[in-house]
Amino acid sequence: MRFDLITIFPEFFVGPLDYGIVRRARETGLIDVQVQDLRVFTKDRHRTVDDRPFGGGEGMVMKPQPLFEAVEALLGHGLGDAAGRVDLPTGTAVVLMSAAGKLFTQETARRYAGLDRVIFICGRYEGVDERVAEHLATEEISIGDFVLSGGELPATLILDSVTRLLPGALGNEDSAVNESFAERQQQDPGSKGEPGAPALGVDKVADAKTGAASRGGGLLLDFPHYTRPAEFRGWGVPEVLIGGNHAEVAKWRRAAAVEKTRRNRPDILGWHG
Ligand code: SAH
Repeated sequence: MRFDLITIFPEFFVGPLDYGIVRRARETGLIDVQVQDLRVFTKDRHRTVDDRPFGGGEGMVMKPQPLFEAVEALLGHGLGDAAGRVDLPTGTAVVLMSAAGKLFTQETARRYAGLDRVIFICGRYEGVDERVAEHLATEEISIGDFVLSGGELPATLILDSVTRLLPGALGNEDSAVNESFAERQQQDPGSKGEPGAPALGVDKVADAKTGAASRGGGLLLDFPHYTRPAEFRGWGVPEVLIGGNHAEVAKWRRAAAVEKTRRNRPDILGWHG
């Protein structure tokens, strides 16, 4: 899979993409990441990428021309104009990073993992001329309800989450199946809660599942993990995890995941408070 990052700070990506799963995916050719310096597509001596906003107000706005030409150069063909549009190749997304975009979720990550190519446009200043969102980007995406100073971190974050979903990226193929926001958790909605399991009955999982699915969200957060030592500073590990009874372990994990989701993210379950 190919990723392109259009930015005025190409050096930004030295480092974040050089570790762990993303690094290995690059080294094995699972992904190809190219950073495109936006200033290459400027026409003036000062290599200007921004200009004052129409209508007044503070801050600068990124001009459309360098961004359109950068994407066209990456694609190897023009995209036309108001009088006649040229389609993008199928399997290619042009993603504008924007605090005013649609919220990025694990579902978005799964969709991108099915594409051949994602081209990220990283904004700066007050943002990007709206014609980029309207006529160049295939989607406008936010990573959360907060404002950052640039689109480079958000793009890196998305690239990371998509890469680890690609077959072969994780050491263990199953690792992405039972984690937070996965489509299928290892769960058996028919089973009942056990004494000693976290407070919320396992039978609630069925309700949770319906609630989450109807909102298109993840089912549950990941269950809590423990490793050795079995006792650390006087804090133990849940007894059931040490016992080696796989059915009991699975039951505990299911219930613990529901409890943790209720506590940290009741919105996922369709509950409030
Ligand atoms: N004036 C804009 C914020 C601009 S921040 C507004 O109020 O919405 C500058 C750039 O940072 C944006 O163009 C975008 O590319 C990036 N950015 C900031 N917050 C972001 C977020 N939550 N998700 C994705 N990109 C973001």
